Amino acid sequence: MSRDDVKIKYTKLFINNEFVTSVSGKMFPTINPANGKKIIDVSEATKEDIDVAVAAAKAAFKRGSEWRKLDASARGLLLQKLANLIQRDVDYLSKLESLDNGKTVADSVFDIGCAVDTFRYYAGIADKSCGRTIPADAGLFSMTRREPVGVVGQIIPWNYPILMLAWKWAPALAAGCTVVLKPAELTPLTALAVAALAKEAGFPKGVVNVVPGYGPIAGQALALHNDIDKIAFTGSTVVGRLILESAAKSNIKRISLELGGKSPVVIMDDANIDEAVEIAHNAIFANHGQNCCAGSRTFVQAGIYDEFVKKATEMAKKRKVGNPFDETTQQGPQIGEVAFNKVLRLIDTGIKEGAKLQIGGTRVGKEGYFVEPTVFSDVTDDMTIAKEEIFGPVQTILKFNSLDEVIERANSTTYGLAAGIVTQNINNALVFSQAVQAGSVWVNCYDAVIPQAPFGGFKQSGIGRELGEEAMKEYLEVKTISIKLPTNH
Ligand code: NAD
Repeated sequence: MSRDDVKIKYTKLFINNEFVTSVSGKMFPTINPANGKKIIDVSEATKEDIDVAVAAAKAAFKRGSEWRKLDASARGLLLQKLANLIQRDVDYLSKLESLDNGKTVADSVFDIGCAVDTFRYYAGIADKSCGRTIPADAGLFSMTRREPVGVVGQIIPWNYPILMLAWKWAPALAAGCTVVLKPAELTPLTALAVAALAKEAGFPKGVVNVVPGYGPIAGQALALHNDIDKIAFTGSTVVGRLILESAAKSNIKRISLELGGKSPVVIMDDANIDEAVEIAHNAIFANHGQNCCAGSRTFVQAGIYDEFVKKATEMAKKRKVGNPFDETTQQGPQIGEVAFNKVLRLIDTGIKEGAKLQIGGTRVGKEGYFVEPTVFSDVTDDMTIAKEEIFGPVQTILKFNSLDEVIERANSTTYGLAAGIVTQNINNALVFSQAVQAGSVWVNCYDAVIPQAPFGGFKQSGIGRELGEEAMKEYLEVKTISIKLPTNH
């Protein structure tokens, strides 16, 4: 398998079920992170294109439109068809994803499987979003309906391009909204390919639109747009704050935010050490550390600390870094030059601040953005690498003595996305699960993200939830209808 097999079919904006060039005619390059070279130029959306795409989505949402007249169960069927088409094209889509993003083809295949599962889950619940009847005061018969919010702007990052699209589109479309999606400028290609599949599945024109472009231009235009009823955003906390500001400055649009994290993985000394080493390794090194819920603070209890560090280092040493198209590769390049330099700079900071570099720490090869799997021990809470999101293949191992102490330290962060604990003791597991401030807690596993269960952040890791019934509610307004009953009944 090689990147030469990957034919790029779509590079224009997708609006009203057609691929169109941008109003300005501007293009921007997308780069192959494995060699730093341009893959292809893609049409760039600017404010004018956002206006066109939003108008298309608004027309598709208009009362009496083809989309609005569809039964909820029919929306579910369309989502099932889209899932089938993505599955049909998994070979092509996974190669395109790996070319644009740098993750291994095996990882892309895995992500696409998760995306298909997400579409299928929401296909199944599209017609199960019920209201309530309410024992109302004052002689009223009261009930609620859940109605689609309307036209939704969705802004996604580059780390899981197809999967993030699925997390955004599936609940929004199940709810009956229409969508304008801006993929990350670093990975625009697969969103366009999936858009073509949405058309093939039979979604009416204007229901899904894809507008590649830059965050401060196309992204901001979406966030500020008065005809966008809701923005769903995944990305950094810095930009999340800007999205909130834009919503406040414009039409108080609804907001859901999935932001960054600095998630703790706690290893108790009663754990099976080999299992614990593997769980903590995958928690941080999956997707090259470019994972919002990466287990980026590994807390290990004092009794097993030294042995754990030794085994974690051995495991990192075995991790194979290289060409994402090689079937034996476990880790490809970081997404791009900026991210690559940031990871290397933070590694340097870790060394300067006194953490002990056990392995790794430098680039791999001479081209592309490959970083050695890196392990630090003797990390303390005040070090920059224990506080800042590195978003790279860097394990930081901290020592603790008691469960109460580690809970306190795990919680002393502005983030609250995820947390893990590895223990054989049910009391440890339950106490930690209740006390840790995080939207997802994983016991004796990590990254156990499934379509049926909600996912999202406490504190500055976000607002609202993705996945599960909760995500669909983010795309629904609740309407109360109260009917006056005749008196004496
Ligand atoms: P980013 O915030 O820079 O970019 C994310 C998206 O926002 C991109 O599409 C970008 O173009 C857009 N954007 C940038 N500036 C904008 C602006 N001013 N207005 C509107 N849109 C703008 O983040 P990134 O570097 O692409 O992704 C990494 C971050 O995303 C990490 O912090 C990571 O933790 C987070 N993330 C979170 C989750 C989650 O589910 N919580 C998932 C994946 C990534």
